[in-house]
Amino acid sequence: FSEDISGKVVVITGASSGIGESLACEYAKRGACLVLAARRERSLQEVADTARYLGSPEVIVVRADVSKVDDCRRVVDQTMSHFGRLDHLVNNAGVMSVALLEEVDDVTDFRAIMDVNFWGSVYMTRFAAPYLRHSRGRVVVMSSSASWLPAPRMSFYNASKAAMSQFFETLRVEFGPDIGITLVTPGFIESELTQGKFLTKGGRLEVDQDMRDVQVSMIPIERADKCAKSIVRSAVRGERYLTEPRWFRMSYLMK
Ligand code: NDP
Repeated sequence: FSEDISGKVVVITGASSGIGESLACEYAKRGACLVLAARRERSLQEVADTARYLGSPEVIVVRADVSKVDDCRRVVDQTMSHFGRLDHLVNNAGVMSVALLEEVDDVTDFRAIMDVNFWGSVYMTRFAAPYLRHSRGRVVVMSSSASWLPAPRMSFYNASKAAMSQFFETLRVEFGPDIGITLVTPGFIESELTQGKFLTKGGRLEVDQDMRDVQVSMIPIERADKCAKSIVRSAVRGERYLTEPRWFRMSYLMK
């Protein structure tokens, strides 16, 4: 088993900010070729420039909304037409909501959480799987400690992460030794998401300062670059799970 990822091809969804951006930098430092996907193309281009500077031999940017099946297909198609191989798929794109169920007038607003977090990962993995099988590659899944930790106002988000964890645990059995899965369940990491930008009523992404204040007062927030370093190390080593003890402790404080 080789930990060397240089020259191999890594697709990262949600690479325009936060943990995804830091993951791109970590993979770049190890010499991987990158496919960066998200909706904000300008931010992706900036991350791509940084990744090239840090040592990635080749980076392409694909503007995509992972909740749309055709966009996910296009990310994989462009990866294959440009690089001809796919070694790691990082299902990182995600949105969070904070709302009490009974405050929500239109629960359908919150379908977006499942559409991005769960279905986006399903679509990406479905299209990537034949190529990952061929390269004996790996799927890195950004679930969350939220998948096993109940917290008020988090029901939609936590359910989406629990669905991701269970889906990929089951795929692990289906894939057997051909395609590896690294299931990552972090605690609180500094990013736009933990700066209070959440999906709120009306399906809009907005800053919820109250929630941000609660988080900051209760929970030590780890830096995204440190988190990304652990994740990439774990992925290239072929580890099956990454839940660092401090992530567990941080999350437990939320109870
Ligand atoms: P950010 O908000 O900084 O990053 C989220 C990324 O997802 C952005 O790049 C965003 O890009 C992308 N994204 C959102 N919606 C879509 C979409 N429909 N299609 C494509 N890309 C999309 O948050 P984080 O870096 O914190 O989150 C990254 C992942 O880590 C998420 O899955 C999150 O649930 C998970 N996580 C985060 C934790 C934390 O404490 N921060 C803890 C545990 C897990 P764009 O807007 O350009 O589309």
